Amino acid sequence: MSEYFGNIAGNAALRRRLAAEIKSGSFPHAYIIEGEEGSGRRTLARSIAAALSCSNPDRLPCGECLACRKIFGNKTPDVISVTPEQGKASLGVDVAREIRRDVMTLPIDFAYKVYIFEGADKMTPEAQNALLLTLEEPPAFAVFLLICRSATNLLVTVRSRAPTIRTEPIPPDVIEDYIISHDKRAAELKAESPGEFAELICAAGGCIGQALLLLDSDRRRPVMERRRLARSFVGVAASKAQAREKLEVISMFSQKREEIAEELRLITDALRDLIILKKAKEAPLVFWADRAAALELAARFSLSELFLLIKRVEAAAEHIGRNANIKLTLTNLVFAGAQAQKRKDYNEQ
Ligand SMILES: [Zn+2]
Repeated sequence: MSEYFGNIAGNAALRRRLAAEIKSGSFPHAYIIEGEEGSGRRTLARSIAAALSCSNPDRLPCGECLACRKIFGNKTPDVISVTPEQGKASLGVDVAREIRRDVMTLPIDFAYKVYIFEGADKMTPEAQNALLLTLEEPPAFAVFLLICRSATNLLVTVRSRAPTIRTEPIPPDVIEDYIISHDKRAAELKAESPGEFAELICAAGGCIGQALLLLDSDRRRPVMERRRLARSFVGVAASKAQAREKLEVISMFSQKREEIAEELRLITDALRDLIILKKAKEAPLVFWADRAAALELAARFSLSELFLLIKRVEAAAEHIGRNANIKLTLTNLVFAGAQAQKRKDYNEQ
């Protein structure tokens, strides 16, 4: 096992590749780092900056040498975090022009000057065009790391100057080991409520950062409630539920449109998992922490019923996004789920 980027979980191939590029001096002048929020993109960017100047080539970045300490401690002017100007949502052309000027001056502490763009997808097209001039002919000491959710949000011309690397989702067992060894609340939660702990790992979606945030019970509560709603919705749709149970599910939804959108998205994830399970029982799941329960639910639907339900959930999300009556839309959705069930009963008789 390689010791490179030992502070990054998972992503073994990516870690080896970056270390090889740094050691051989073939590290490109710019990288686009894409990945979900909380997937470790910022940690990776800072670790690259440290590895470039680290004095222990056998375990880049070592975390102990002067360069590592200064860079991880954010105590050097050579690693520049690029964010939108105060009060602005996007990164404008002024910032890109300033970088163009700044990049002409030599680094002060180390051999490299690293610009970390925190939200590269927030760059306006003008800013991206201005940056392009710098990316085309950067001085030898300059490195640009463009963090974004998806590289497709950047101009093609920028993408052609900077290869894309992607932080991979971390496997659940790695997340579990990591949070247990880094935060004592994790072991406590696992001992006290193993079910909720399993739900937390699942809700983290392959992101260690998310898993750590969810150890905070105030942050976890709404996420757990939303997951419970998604399970109840699917459970009611799968059974001959009474009207009372359906009304209860409707009452579990939020009153706020943007939160309902999130809830419906999660229900879609849960239903998609069931479709996948019908095809492969061992397939990796996005939503369900309890595979046995999910398999049991999947068996109660036909494939076409699951597709129909997803279509209805997506239509409801669209209606609610367009200001339709929330209560009415959700009532129609939850009661229509049962209609698919009736049709199944009818076909089977
Ligand atoms: Zn070091």
